[in-house]
Parts: sequence; structure tokens; C-alpha cells
Amino acid sequence: MGSRCIIKALLGIGLLTGTLAPPATAALPVITSRGKNYVPLSSMAPYYTMQVSEPARNRVRLQNRWYTLDFETNSRRCRVNGTLMWLNRPTRRISGKWAVEKVDFYQVIDPALRPYAFLAKAGSKMVVLDPGHGGRDNGAVSPRRVFEKLLTLDIAKRVRNRLQTRGITVKLTRESDRALSLSGRCKKAAGWNADVFVSLHADSAGKAKSAKGAGTFVLSLPGCYSTGSYGRGKPPSTAYEGNRFNAANTALGYRIQQNLVKNTGQTDRGVKRARFQVLREAPCPAALVEVAFLSNPKEEAMLIDPAKREQIAHGIADGIAAYLYDVERGREMK
Ligand SMILES: [Zn+2]
Repeated sequence: MGSRCIIKALLGIGLLTGTLAPPATAALPVITSRGKNYVPLSSMAPYYTMQVSEPARNRVRLQNRWYTLDFETNSRRCRVNGTLMWLNRPTRRISGKWAVEKVDFYQVIDPALRPYAFLAKAGSKMVVLDPGHGGRDNGAVSPRRVFEKLLTLDIAKRVRNRLQTRGITVKLTRESDRALSLSGRCKKAAGWNADVFVSLHADSAGKAKSAKGAGTFVLSLPGCYSTGSYGRGKPPSTAYEGNRFNAANTALGYRIQQNLVKNTGQTDRGVKRARFQVLREAPCPAALVEVAFLSNPKEEAMLIDPAKREQIAHGIADGIAAYLYDVERGREMK
């Protein structure tokens, strides 16, 4: 057994990873209902060597020493080690068993829990940060006239500094307050052979002042709804450029959201899915972060404070670094 095989064996029994990790090829039994395939939570549990419990009404928990999966029944909300991951479809009772659709297991849960198993071919050399808006396009403007376009640029530079001190190569799609098309941003990233693309934004809910928190978007899956338009019409089946990286998108989004919320203590709005143009056209694994709400007075105050912006940048940089570490682990296991 060579050293690589030993590493593989250790990973297989969880000594290095902190989990019992079966090979990526292991297939779980599915149950079929009305033409759709579901993975029962009771089958997922042995796969991860987890115990199943129902800690509260409408909750199913899968847990081992290291990891916890919390499912809300008849809901798309699922927490992976405490971080909210929106499922494509609700956890349902199928043939007497709580189950998620196969796509949610393979494209959402497993890439978040075992990212290294999906990232053997992913790159880790070049991070491109994309400060949203710019020039004439102010983005959201808060009641105290804080401009999204300036915030995103400030935070992007802070994230860059933090990544560079770790020896990571970073480029920004814009360095100043200037206009740049959405396609232009992705083309720049492609020209630089980006391995990671992260677009930065701040949200606004208009007059709804109570909306708050941080959220991270990754590209919707073909044939699945975007998180915010669940159940409306028929979801498009189109596969975009960005859909070549589905599992890596999930892994990246999860790491960013997990670290952003951990560093700032903000409300966790979760890893969501949308068909934003920069995500559709991204030439590599990509995420779009909505750092906070400019329309919420408390969050506006937070965004005005440079120390808080540094905290946000810290979280995003940690998230990107964690993803790059997952990529390295994926390569070692290959
Ligand atoms: Zn924006």
C-alpha cells in the first residue's frame, strides 16, 4: 500500500476527514414515486454513519460525532452543520419514509458534506472577485445614501488583501467606480483562467425594513426552480455554462455562507439558487454573495462601519480559502 493508498484508506474510515466517507461511487437505494426518484433519510444515515432522530415535530436529524443534517419536513430548508442549504424540493414522506429528491442528495447535500469527493478536477490557482455594479449603475442605495457599488468594491479589496496574505492569487473585475457589463465580468474571469468567481452584492428589500441577513447564491440546476420562484410555472431545463460546475458551485457556496455567518453572526439566509447572468456565464465554479440588506437600518449601520466590512471580508475570504482547501484534498484523494 503506497502512501496515497494509505491516505485514501484513512479518508475512507474517517480518520483524516472527521467523517466516515464512503467512496464517491457508492449509490444509495432510491424509491420512486410518480416518476421521481427519492433518497430516504433512513438510507442516507448509514451512508454517512449517522443516527436518525426526530428532535422536534417537523424535524428529522441525521447526526454522527462530527456532522449534523437537520431536515424540516415538508420544507425545502435543510441545515448542514448549522448552515442553511435550500433544497430544490421539500423533504417529503414517500411510502412511509421521509425522503429528499435524488437531485438534492447528489447536488446539494453530498457536495456540501463531502466537497473533496467532487473537486478532484477543480482548479485552485486564480480567484476572481467581482464587485457588483459600478459607474452609472449604483446598485441599491440606502436611506443614508450608501451606494452598493462602492460597498462591493471596498469589500472586494478587503477580501483580496486577506487572500493575498495567504498566498492566493486574486484579481478584481473592476478596481474603480466604473461600469462593466455582466458578460464583460465573466469574460474577464475567463481570460484570466479563473478557478473561482465570486460576485459581491448588497441586498435591498425597498421599504421592507425588517429584511435582514446574509445569503449566497449559486446557479439553479436544470429542470429545478430557483429558490425564490419555487412552484411558479415550469422550471427551465436549460443547462448553462455554469451548470458544468454544479457540485463545485454548491461546495463553494456552502463554504462562503458557512464562514460569512460564522464571522459576522448575521441571520443565515442560506445557500440559495438563482439564474443570475454572472452565474450562468461563469467560466468556473461561482457564487454571488448578498452580504447584508442596505434597506435595513441596523445592517446599513453595520455596512457603514469599516470594522464590520472587514469582518464580512474576513468571512468571505475564509470561505474561499476553505473551498480551495477542499480542492486540494480532492486532488490528494484522486
Ligand atoms: Zn447588486
